[in-house]
Amino acid sequence: MSDENKIRVIPRRGAMQIGGVCTEIATDNMRIMFDFGSPLEGEGRQDVLDIEGVTTGKANCDAVFITHYHGDHVGEVPNIMADIPVYMHKTAREILQAQQEHKVSVGQIVWAKEIKELTEGVPIVIKDLKITPLASDHSASDSLMYLVEGCGKRILITGDYRLHGFYADRLKGTLKNLGHIDLLITEGTNLSRSSSNYKDEQWCEKEFWRILRENKYVFLLASSSNIDRIAAFSRCVPRGEYALTDGYQTHVMRIADKNRDEEFKSFKIHPYREEKRGLYEKGGFGMIIRAGKRHTPLVKEFFEKYPDKTCLVYSMWKGYETLPDVAELLEYSKGHIERVHVSGHITKEDLEQVISIIKPEKLMIHHTDVKDVGEQRLKIPISTELLNIEDGESFIV
Ligand SMILES: [Zn+2]
Repeated sequence: MSDENKIRVIPRRGAMQIGGVCTEIATDNMRIMFDFGSPLEGEGRQDVLDIEGVTTGKANCDAVFITHYHGDHVGEVPNIMADIPVYMHKTAREILQAQQEHKVSVGQIVWAKEIKELTEGVPIVIKDLKITPLASDHSASDSLMYLVEGCGKRILITGDYRLHGFYADRLKGTLKNLGHIDLLITEGTNLSRSSSNYKDEQWCEKEFWRILRENKYVFLLASSSNIDRIAAFSRCVPRGEYALTDGYQTHVMRIADKNRDEEFKSFKIHPYREEKRGLYEKGGFGMIIRAGKRHTPLVKEFFEKYPDKTCLVYSMWKGYETLPDVAELLEYSKGHIERVHVSGHITKEDLEQVISIIKPEKLMIHHTDVKDVGEQRLKIPISTELLNIEDGESFIV
């Protein structure tokens, strides 16, 4: 039995930092990677991932699987050698391509065209392992978890996720029906933060509903890739008013809406047209914007002309408030700003709930800035072993 094929796991990066996550899963016959991201600014290891057989030397990797399109998970994909197939969700891939095409004028290369597409629930078999993409719930649209099965073992890699999004019930159902899991590899972004004030995406939607009825002209500042948030805002725009944005955001929403459940689609979003300005002023509107030259002057004009009827909804992580373009926009809007946001990441309490649902034999928490997860006093089942593995260390499942 000594030469029995076993599964090895090697966290390549992300064991003790949030960004730049990459995890290797290998058997004697194959190796695959999960995510290939860039580090966040100023955190942990900043060096470029350099993996023999993946980014350098002779190609020796069967595939790379991406959980979602955020830079901390896809940023270093262009460094992967051309012969190695990279997979991600079909809709997420299209959105990533649209983002890249939008930035071509500032030197962006459109590499998302080369990525192979996955559909949730449809497995891929590569040599010893079956990899099944599962629909997740994150601030990036159409995010995936991966169930990896083979050599008598079952591993779940969560990617970034949460239980307070619109798909929480669907995700809980998936987790409850997983069956035995030998190893759970989960993100732990919010591990050190206790959530005293639990809010969900439905709360955001209710706030949008109220704000759009209290104000005739409402600007929403959100990440252009936060599809669920933007779609919810558009659904709240009152009858007779306009749901506006620019051509790029409209294009992204059309892609996202194609395979979306009816209740989560965006509603009547159209690109802003200067020649229709009179109609917008007469009827009122909710407009999705980004900070910068394109939209900030318009926000400034409305705050000057209609100070009592205009509102800016700040719907992003508070850390972005100090970015120069954002700070300028907030300065013009300071007469009336509402803050409506929830995290894309699971709370500590919900993470405990997930672990107790899955009851994995072994647990690895990465994508966290916590140095010693053991010290977080996480409530986990006594049958679950919490691993403390460093980047580059290999262990057998
Ligand atoms: Zn992430």
